[in-house]
Amino acid sequence: MKQHIDTAPIWDSYRQDCECPLCLLYAKVESGNVDYFLGESVMEPSQRVEVNQKGFCARHFKLMYDAGNRLGLALMTHTYMKETIKSLRENAQRARDAAAAEAVKPIFKRLGSQKGAGMSEIVGELRKVEDTCLLCDRIRDNMERYMYTILYMYKHEAEFPKLFEQSKGMCLHHYAQALEMAPKHLSGDALKRFVDTLTDIEIKNFDRLEGEIEWFTNKFDYRNQDKPWGNSRDAVKRSVNKLSHQVVDED
Ligand SMILES: [Zn+2]
Ligand SMILES: [Zn+2]
Repeated sequence: MKQHIDTAPIWDSYRQDCECPLCLLYAKVESGNVDYFLGESVMEPSQRVEVNQKGFCARHFKLMYDAGNRLGLALMTHTYMKETIKSLRENAQRARDAAAAEAVKPIFKRLGSQKGAGMSEIVGELRKVEDTCLLCDRIRDNMERYMYTILYMYKHEAEFPKLFEQSKGMCLHHYAQALEMAPKHLSGDALKRFVDTLTDIEIKNFDRLEGEIEWFTNKFDYRNQDKPWGNSRDAVKRSVNKLSHQVVDED
């Protein structure tokens, strides 16, 4: 089955001057999903079931909290909390049992990493609950789709490779994702050209940004006080986002 390929959002973000066009797309996908989960999804029983199973990570709970729709968030959080209490109850006896077994262990079985080992299974399960996030899952699917579309466009849209080459590369996170997905969807000459071009622009633009953040630090020297900022005024934000991924939100 031929899938519909929506190239318009890719054209839009590649036409903007930015450090990572994928991060621009990410911001849109993320805010769209936050709106959806606070709005329509609250009325969708199947969505609620998924929320109850996976919950949200700290970043996405905070984004939903900051979005201000307290009733939508309250409805969702209430049922997710009920589900969480159910699994807490199920795990409670196992936590007590593990601690009781640990308490009677002879000292030689509680050396180094053995200490508390009996509790690690239950701790691992709780961490998993904390770490899983339905929004992260959705966004990851959407972003994979966009990355696939970029690879498709690189091969099939005559004007796209030129625009791609003029971009400032990607953040480290999306660069790794691009290198991971490229050999799955491109082959032969197209694969080689894509990776060659991307690595070239990546290094070129990391070098440029390194110069910009260096000038930012040099501006604190009184001798440079009156010299122009150039592109360095927001170099810290751009560098942080380039090295990681959407740490500081775009203005
Ligand atoms: Zn990015
Ligand atoms: Zn998340």
